[in-house]
Amino acid sequence: MLGTFSTTGQATAKSVTVVEGEHLIGEFTGDANGPTLIVFGSVHGNEAGGVIALEKIAGILPGLAAKLRGRVFFLAGNTRAFGRGIRFIDSDLNRHWTIENVARNRPGATPPSKSAEDREQTELLTILNRALKTARAEVYAMDLHSTSADGVPFATVGDTLRNRSFARKFPVTILLGIEEQLDGTILEYLNNRGAVTLGYEGGQHFAEKTIRTHEALVWLALANSGILSPEDYPEIRKHENFLRATTGRPRVVEIRYRHAITAADEFKMEPGFNNFQPVRRGDLLARQKDGEVRAGESGMILMPLYQALGEDGFFLGREIAPFWLRLSGWLRRRSVASLMRFLPGVRVSMREDETLEINTRIARLFPLQIFHLLGFRKRRWQHDKLVVSRRKFDTKSPFPKD
Ligand SMILES: [Zn+2]
Repeated sequence: MLGTFSTTGQATAKSVTVVEGEHLIGEFTGDANGPTLIVFGSVHGNEAGGVIALEKIAGILPGLAAKLRGRVFFLAGNTRAFGRGIRFIDSDLNRHWTIENVARNRPGATPPSKSAEDREQTELLTILNRALKTARAEVYAMDLHSTSADGVPFATVGDTLRNRSFARKFPVTILLGIEEQLDGTILEYLNNRGAVTLGYEGGQHFAEKTIRTHEALVWLALANSGILSPEDYPEIRKHENFLRATTGRPRVVEIRYRHAITAADEFKMEPGFNNFQPVRRGDLLARQKDGEVRAGESGMILMPLYQALGEDGFFLGREIAPFWLRLSGWLRRRSVASLMRFLPGVRVSMREDETLEINTRIARLFPLQIFHLLGFRKRRWQHDKLVVSRRKFDTKSPFPKD
């Protein structure tokens, strides 16, 4: 089935067509020994901006092929949901990349699943496996999203030193730690396969400006990954200036709390909250069946939910001072984390790599922030234990040096 999506209500309505199961928008190779950039658009099918931006750039790159010092893959995410203009069909494709799902849906596995997103995953894995196996230098992966409410664009970054240093080349607000709150994102999966990753929320679903910020980000990614020099394509500077003008002061914000909800909670956000708006402890943020929801700590509100569907009511975060960023970089490069296992009440997991189980008493003495500083991420609470694990590729790439 052909799927067409129009950005309606615009003075200059555009439409793009995505064929079910056909994910490759464009593949461009200049120097096959150079770095690889993989960009996904519309992993959520109702977020058309990503695919539209990638189609536009894919129309220009053939003329620049001789100047590319690496490889570029542009991929449409949820092709089946895209045709219907909905977020997903059977399950959220951006929560689908768990170890179990990836194993079940690996290419060639039989019988093929009936779930739309299982199929999407198998198709995407076929392309990703090829791209990763043939990589001869660093691999960068980006995922373009948009939001129901209007707001300043921002990047979501899994907290590894390699991800941070890539993200900080872009004039954007960086949100650290979202991947700790959400299981099975496509970028977390690629992080664990060694890629440097950057997610991006480019603005409101249907706004023309969202497409422009996505485009600007991808052009800048081509430059920041070392694949296309701004000297060879000076337009990149214009895109950078556009991004600078739309996103405000670059800063790094850490997620500290997620307000998880289900339909049964009848969650309703209080009106008037914007992304990154400061809130104080005790402020009334939302109401639900069992009463008022107030801010548990001061900071800023992130991604308040104003649409009907979702599992995240809102998040609370805080800006991280440059000092802490530098300190954590210093600590991680010196492998201080490997000493944590000698603390009383901390045990190395027998079942999972690079994983510690911390009893509640120690977890109270050394709050999660300390483990973050050292490069661990929270996995889950298990009975009376906090389970944290360290990313395999925090400081070192598994791909050959270019
Ligand atoms: Zn999305």
